[in-house]
Amino acid sequence: MKVLVINCGSSSLKFQLIDTAENSVLAKGLCERIGIDGSNFEYRKGDGEKTSALKEMKDHKDAVALVIAALTDPETGVVSSLKEIDAVGHRTVHGGEKFKQAVRIDEDVIAAIEEVSDLAPLHNPACIIGIRACMDLMPDLPHVAVFDTAFHQTMKPEAYLYAIPYEYYEKYKVRRYGFHGTSHAYVSSRAADMLKKDIKDLKIIVCHLGNGASISAVQGGQCVDTSMGLTPLEGLIMGTRSGDIDPAVIPFIAGKEGISCDAVVDILNKKSGVLGLTGVSSDFRDIVKAAEGGSEISEITLRAYSLRVAKYIGAYAAAMNGVDAIAFTAGVGENDAGIRGRICQYLGFLGTELDEERNKEARGREAVISKDGGKPVLMVIPTNEELSIAMQTVEIVGRA
Ligand code: AMP
Repeated sequence: MKVLVINCGSSSLKFQLIDTAENSVLAKGLCERIGIDGSNFEYRKGDGEKTSALKEMKDHKDAVALVIAALTDPETGVVSSLKEIDAVGHRTVHGGEKFKQAVRIDEDVIAAIEEVSDLAPLHNPACIIGIRACMDLMPDLPHVAVFDTAFHQTMKPEAYLYAIPYEYYEKYKVRRYGFHGTSHAYVSSRAADMLKKDIKDLKIIVCHLGNGASISAVQGGQCVDTSMGLTPLEGLIMGTRSGDIDPAVIPFIAGKEGISCDAVVDILNKKSGVLGLTGVSSDFRDIVKAAEGGSEISEITLRAYSLRVAKYIGAYAAAMNGVDAIAFTAGVGENDAGIRGRICQYLGFLGTELDEERNKEARGREAVISKDGGKPVLMVIPTNEELSIAMQTVEIVGRA
């Protein structure tokens, strides 16, 4: 099947047309600065050259119209008409407790996504705008919402409840939701394939280490715990997010700096993490370079980052009473052998040993990086969230 995957932000729209039979990307691109002066449209057919052009896009409907025009263009296109596309899969950030899996979109589903928008006020409204624009311009195609939170809905209350007055859960649904669900689902499933075992018999820890970072414990194919919480701020140290801190830090800094608690949370989201600690960059390549150049705080930051990941791995090994595989994915996890090495230094107690050569050679491709015979098996597995969204879309459409 050919599935158009849409990932909508408030002023951007990323897309990929995926052939799920071949696992191949037929075309992909990006609309940027939608509704802002200087809107830009990037497009690439298959492995071809990327083209980039300023195109007026006053709203998301204009953006979707441009996407359709590019995909069906006789020269640059990959399909002759929309009839060749089987479905549209929409990356949707928050499904609350309502959505435990992907779902075919209708007006009731849009209303339910709207209902949980206060849990993701920056993301869900943008998703809905994108969904509506696509449904307006492609009314004959089935549209499916695939939620970042859905994979984590198998967590039990002991994993998802915060130890705060229970009424806040009852009244406002304050709890751990977790994000990056499509990535955790895809990578854990690939890990089982690589081990040639049924995922039902496996305990897997997935370390999604990108600009945003989260870690999950996947037992028998189901998420039992994950590090992101009510919002993506909790858990690991990230590019610009602090991850876990004592909540009392927030009013303390607000008082000292004379700013609001909201302003502090904004700082925790956008100016913290490895960027905040080093003052250098949110990009790990810059921090590694700075550490190699003698920056002490950059070296400490890399250590703090690795220690935090290792502590979560230890916790999740305990949560599952064992672990068969640990998979590294996303920008840092797939590419940075140094960070993987630092994390794995802590893991000998589990009975595994990193193979330095395999680790060095594994960059952006599936590989086992531990020595043979040990357990857990250490792995690198490039994530593919778009393919995961396309596959889930096919599953839902196929069921209808
Ligand atoms: P993602 O959010 O998965 O796209 O990951 C983005 C992050 O991955 C960037 O901010 C970089 O810090 C990191 N990254 C990407 N490529 C490399 C690389 N070759 N070596 C180290 N870090 C990398």
